[in-house]
This record gives sequence, C-alpha cells and structure tokens, in this order.
Amino acid sequence: MQACSLDWKRKGHRIGFIPTMGFLHEGHIALVRRARKECDAVTVSIFVNPTQFGPTEDFEHYPRDFKRDAALLESEGADALFFPEAEEVYPKPYRTYVDVEDITDVLCGASRPGHFRGVATIVLKLINIVGPQKIYLGEKDAQQLAVIKQMVSDLDVPVEVIGCATEREADGLAMSSRNSYLNADERVSARVLSEALFLAESLMNSGMKRVSDLKAEVLKLIERDKLIKMEYICFVDPLSLEEVEVVEGATLLAVAARIGRTRLIDNITLRPNTF
Ligand code: AMP
Repeated sequence: MQACSLDWKRKGHRIGFIPTMGFLHEGHIALVRRARKECDAVTVSIFVNPTQFGPTEDFEHYPRDFKRDAALLESEGADALFFPEAEEVYPKPYRTYVDVEDITDVLCGASRPGHFRGVATIVLKLINIVGPQKIYLGEKDAQQLAVIKQMVSDLDVPVEVIGCATEREADGLAMSSRNSYLNADERVSARVLSEALFLAESLMNSGMKRVSDLKAEVLKLIERDKLIKMEYICFVDPLSLEEVEVVEGATLLAVAARIGRTRLIDNITLRPNTF
C-alpha cells in the first residue's frame, strides 16, 4: 500500500482516503464520491479493528461482506482497496497506542472505555500507510470526527480532515452497518431517534434555546417508544464536547440508544440563527 501511494505521489496525485469497517452503504459511498471529486486517487480501507471493540461488544458478529463491498467500490471508481489482516496491523508484540485526552471520556467514551484509543490508533496507522492529503470521515460519528481532528492537530499529522454530512434512510434513520442487526419491530422504533433530533431542531428554530427544555421534549418523544433504551442525550460544543446549557452557537446534539441488542448513535448540529 505504501509503495502504491508513493508511486501516486511521485506522479503528483492527491490521495483521498476513506477508512471503513466494511459492509458498505450509501453513507460510505457518499464519502467515496466526495473524495473522487476532490482527489486524483481514492483509497478505501476495510478493516474491522479489534482494538476499538470492548470485550463484550460485537467484534465477532460485526457484519461482513467483502465481495459485495469490493464490487461496489470498483463500480464507484475507487482506485485502491486496502484490507489488511489483524495480525499484519498489530504484529506481536504490539505496544504503541494513541490516547486523545478528555474528549474521549464523554458521550460514547463513557460507556465504551478504550474505544477511541483503538480508533485514534488505527486511524493514525492507516494514515501512515496510505499517506493521504485528505481523509474523509462521516459526521454520523461526530465524536470520532472530533477525536481525529484533535489528534491530527496535536500530532502534526499532514492530512486535511473532511467531515461529511450523515446519509439517512427515507424515514430519517442514519445509515449504519449495524442497522442490519434490527428486526422489523426494532427497525420501526429506530426511526424515533432521528425524529427526536429533528424535533429538537424545529423547537430550537422556533425559539426554544434552553437545553433543559429541549432535552425534556426529546425525552418525552423517545420514551413513548417501549423498545428504545436511551444511553445518553447530550448537547455539547462540536469540538470540545463540553456540555452547553443554552443553544447560542453551533451545538452538537448527540444521542445513543439500545434497541434490543443493537446500539445505535445519531446526532445533529443545531445552528441558531444569529441575526
Ligand atoms: P464505519 O464503517 O462505520 O467505521 O464508517 C466508516 C466511515 O463512514 C466513518 O467515517 C463514518 O462516520 C462514515 N459513515 C458511517 N455511516 C455514515 C452515514 N450514514 N453517513 C455518512 N457517513 C457515514
């Protein structure tokens, strides 16, 4: 992979990179299309990264369909698909990890200790292997985006981080490989998460700015559904991830919930009118 990237760089190509865990959907494809437009060569990685899964999480069962993914990427005009084995990525003994402080302790980090250490480590390793000028990440994983931006800035990683809007199903559900875990009833319930985000946005647009009020309305809507168990509803600064009490500037509203055995996350950035 490094030799291939070096060859492209010698030719003056700008490399765009999309790291994924595979089982691709339109959310991933939107990132590929954006990279296609902005770069000369597009590399996609598929790697279900063991170090970002906790011991009781779904690493073993994470959905995989390499053949379908590879065909899809070929039809989308990706130039390289990098799919290393875990033994290659983490040869024994493996001892070096990237720890981004503070912003990894909140939101998903609170219930998934070590998750963002695994994420930051694999993303830095992949950047070092692929050598992209631009890396494309989804806003769907807003905390991951904040963590990678912080790491790139702190460690002087020579790459531009580009956040891309969340792709949604027709009923609003954020696309995710994990949606494939949902049964029919759970799939119906899952819609409530995005409905709650859009409700908060419209309430905010009509003047409700206090987070305690917005949170109460969001909770009321979600708690009507019996299958959804909320993990968190947080209103935070999109970069520092510090909680806000009043929506005055751009504010990330992030939610995580369990529906049956499936854990889903979603978010929206609330942008109050400033004039
Ligand atoms: P994953 O395969 O879930 O690790 O995701 C790989 C990349 O795709 C990450 O940067 C995600 O944020 C992004 N992504 C996942 N789902 C979506 C979506 N619905 N819309 C846009 N980007 C997404």
